[in-house]
Amino acid sequence: MNSDIKLGQVWGIPIGLNASWFLIFALITFSLSAGLFPQAFPGISGVIALVVGALTAVLFFSSVLLHELGHAYAAQRSGIRVRAITLFMFGGVAQLEQDSRTPGEEFRIAAAGPLVSFVLAALFAIVSMIFGATLLGVMGGWLAGVNLSLALFNLIPGYPLDGGRVLKALVWWRTGDQHRATRVAATGGRWVAWGFIGFGAFEILLGGFVNGLWLIVIGWFLKNAADQTYTMSRVQQTLTGMRVSDVMSRGWSLVNGLTPLQEVLEQYAMRTGERAFVIRDEDRLAGILTLNDLVRVPRNVWRYTAARQVMTPWERVLRVRADMDLIAALRAMDEARVQQLPVEQDDQLVGMLTREAAVRHLQMRMRFG
Ligand SMILES: [Zn+2]
Repeated sequence: MNSDIKLGQVWGIPIGLNASWFLIFALITFSLSAGLFPQAFPGISGVIALVVGALTAVLFFSSVLLHELGHAYAAQRSGIRVRAITLFMFGGVAQLEQDSRTPGEEFRIAAAGPLVSFVLAALFAIVSMIFGATLLGVMGGWLAGVNLSLALFNLIPGYPLDGGRVLKALVWWRTGDQHRATRVAATGGRWVAWGFIGFGAFEILLGGFVNGLWLIVIGWFLKNAADQTYTMSRVQQTLTGMRVSDVMSRGWSLVNGLTPLQEVLEQYAMRTGERAFVIRDEDRLAGILTLNDLVRVPRNVWRYTAARQVMTPWERVLRVRADMDLIAALRAMDEARVQQLPVEQDDQLVGMLTREAAVRHLQMRMRFG
């Protein structure tokens, strides 16, 4: 989920809005200022209804943000960094840098959000009781209701909802098997998603087109997230225990540093399909030249530019060890935004780890066990 608009930071976490958020903000403001407030106060002026409606919608999304901050607080207390919090069409999402390491962590992070929503529901209920049938009282009553719904909705036991994470924590705690727990929660998520889609279709048959469509869209969103989680968990389980040496390729093209770029392209890249070349200069490894380095140079000088002028020098190339954990190496590859990593053993180049090879290997393993 991208933050298209940045709102600021809380505890060092960037808070942002996705463009899709404006749609739901407008819808809620409209439904409040054309529905709730005119119904409660028949004589209310349109402008005042609009202002209070917008204000109530802002408080609603502040509640959603506080719910996400609840997750973020619990995560950071467990030492898990939060990359960003983004509000979007279906609510909010706190992006965590890594998965929980224990069922206890998973449980606390999952439960913190709904807990915040329950507390907010109670506070708004108190406001509603104090102010009764005034504008403030009606606002409080509505906000108490939506925060309670938010807490209960999120506790439905299907991934990616918080309840799904709670379910995952419980299964993980009982079985000690994190991957199995994730898949149980994701399967729950798929059922919940199909439930939403089914209810939505039923609504539409009964004539509630907008509500029905909304339920189907939410169901679809949940289904995709659950499917993705399920697949990711299988991938992670397959990769667990694997080393870089299990998937690296043991051959690579060695190119003389004086070779012009045009020749690298024609003689090596086009013939081998490789995207990275090991550059040798005066009988030692000098660096790595990738196709990305090549395209940064204007085409008309490819004939006159030597590989060693454009390559990344060996000292600055990120390298991994052959016995390194594969998941950690792939993560390092992601963070460095490169497509391949040279693999070393005892200071000798022994292979090349590429993203494509890792994916191919993974597909084979998942297919043939
Ligand atoms: Zn939540």
